[in-house]
Amino acid sequence: QRQEKIRNFSIIAHIDHGKSTLADRILQQTETVAERDMQAQLLDSMDLERERGITIKLNAVELTYTANDGEEYIFHLIDTPGHVDFTYEVSRSLAACEGALLVVDAAQGIEAQTLANVYLALDNDLEILPVINKIDLPAADPEKVQLEIEDIIGIDASEAVHASAKAGIGIAEILEQIVEKVPAPQGDIEAPLQALIFDSAYDSFRGVVLNIRVVNGTVKPGDKIRLMSNGKEFEVNEVGVFSPKALQKEILSVGDVGYLTASIKTIQDTHVGDTITSANNPAEEALEGYRKLNPMVFAGLYPVDSNDYNDLREALERLQLNDAALEFEPETSQALGFGFRTGFLGLLHMDVIQERLEREFNIDLIMTAPSVIYRVIKTNGEEVIVDNPSALPDATEIEKILEPYVKATIMVPNDYVGAVMDLGQRKRGTFITMDYLDANRVNVVYEIPTAEIIFDFFDKLKSTTKGYASLDYEMIGYRESKLAKLDILLNGDIIDAFSMIVHKDFAFNRGKALVEKLKKTIPRQMFEVPVQAAIGHKIIARSTIKALRKDVTAKLYGGDVSRRKKLLEKQKEGKKRMKQVGSVEVPQEAFMSILQMD
Ligand code: GDP
Ligand code: MG
Repeated sequence: QRQEKIRNFSIIAHIDHGKSTLADRILQQTETVAERDMQAQLLDSMDLERERGITIKLNAVELTYTANDGEEYIFHLIDTPGHVDFTYEVSRSLAACEGALLVVDAAQGIEAQTLANVYLALDNDLEILPVINKIDLPAADPEKVQLEIEDIIGIDASEAVHASAKAGIGIAEILEQIVEKVPAPQGDIEAPLQALIFDSAYDSFRGVVLNIRVVNGTVKPGDKIRLMSNGKEFEVNEVGVFSPKALQKEILSVGDVGYLTASIKTIQDTHVGDTITSANNPAEEALEGYRKLNPMVFAGLYPVDSNDYNDLREALERLQLNDAALEFEPETSQALGFGFRTGFLGLLHMDVIQERLEREFNIDLIMTAPSVIYRVIKTNGEEVIVDNPSALPDATEIEKILEPYVKATIMVPNDYVGAVMDLGQRKRGTFITMDYLDANRVNVVYEIPTAEIIFDFFDKLKSTTKGYASLDYEMIGYRESKLAKLDILLNGDIIDAFSMIVHKDFAFNRGKALVEKLKKTIPRQMFEVPVQAAIGHKIIARSTIKALRKDVTAKLYGGDVSRRKKLLEKQKEGKKRMKQVGSVEVPQEAFMSILQMD
């Protein structure tokens, strides 16, 4: 029976421990991809993923494997991202699987995201198969890592494969373990169709492409399906799997992981976590969906050219299909015009969305400084939610402001504990606990304002610990803080898009650093531009962008032709991300100045 031969598994790990490389080797060993088509991190198919060397999206592929028992098995492998911002991709992948390969770097050992991902896998009742990777490295210590897995995670690692995804060591053993240890999918092929939507994308020709896991029953072209959350019905056009290219199939049945199209043109109709059932023979209940994810960071997104506003809306809608954690709603800024307040899971997520909008949809954007969500209790007892600093009520109406906090778990070698504590203190953290994981590694827990952790905490942590620390965090709720709105004035006008909410103790330093930074990032204009930072009506810092001197430009353009051409090109490039704000031209990077300050 086919169902008995299916194995659905994910690959999970801390970032860079070798998930995507292991996926490559599995594709190769099972001859899913011809040798000549093979390239490193093959499943990272987005340009952005290849350039940055990170996995952003989950990827599901079907492959066949002939095991030592002589039988042919069908594997559905889901590669997942490792970065904390994309945990949502991981949790959705896991819900489509029965097992997980837990990859741990033999030189680095367990790190913060290793644990976070293990917990997700355990939540989903997955069989966890530890794989100790990179044993080819001189610093590899597989025996030690094996003990770590048993001590820290508490699972049996005695049969953990010692592997090198890079050198192709241990791959055959991993494939056999998948057959032996990952359970075949449960579910009833005769029952009414229930398929979980775990991802989706938009295709201009075929409409919405749904990635599904069939939990019960079967689905094939011509079938009438119903989306259980809203009752919308469609006729299936096509079903198939990725291998890794899309491959049409006659039918998807219980246990399969694949895709489905049904001429779904209205993007709003579908969402991940929904259950597809048969319209003629509907299931009684929907499958358990996903916990809705709340964005942690908000920023304004504005088209550089205001004519692109509708294109931007459409692009956001399409991207949302492929990125369920993205949220947006229209907003207006005095300085920037019409745009959208957009919610993200973190700064990397924000960065990725901005780049995808520019690359995949060809829209030039200005993004304002990111902010977390504040809760403001007014003197009249009213509570307002503020996700845009410029919307903070007047100071006289504010009773108190609460800001979100996270519990941050930092794993670090002994020697760097001092540096981590120092950083925790500087970022307004409250020290909670410190546990020794083994003789030389420590788990430090802090409670820290979300605003501090998402801005540059991770970069600072990496630099102060020479890259040895790893970080995981989760929301723990709201706490009162002494906060105030810091305004920036250009040429005497408050620029709403620059406003930010800061801790009163840091306001002066932030204001000073910000005006200095803006002075450097905003190019000289034809006239002198004063830059000021203010809290309420009080100016706390100022500086001046000097006027452009005519003779400087004359000289610049006087050079030889090729140099001049280059300059013009460069100018054009720069122009793309400039926005006229009142009387001043402001480049994109100026809006991000807030992220690069201490
Ligand atoms: P991911 O972030 O978990 O998907 O990790 P990648 O598969 O992208 O690998 C991260 C880096 O580690 C890449 O530079 C790989 O070439 C390297 N890498 C992966 N597996 C091995 C291995 O077994 N040995 C060595 N030496 N390097 C590896
Ligand atoms: Mg990867």
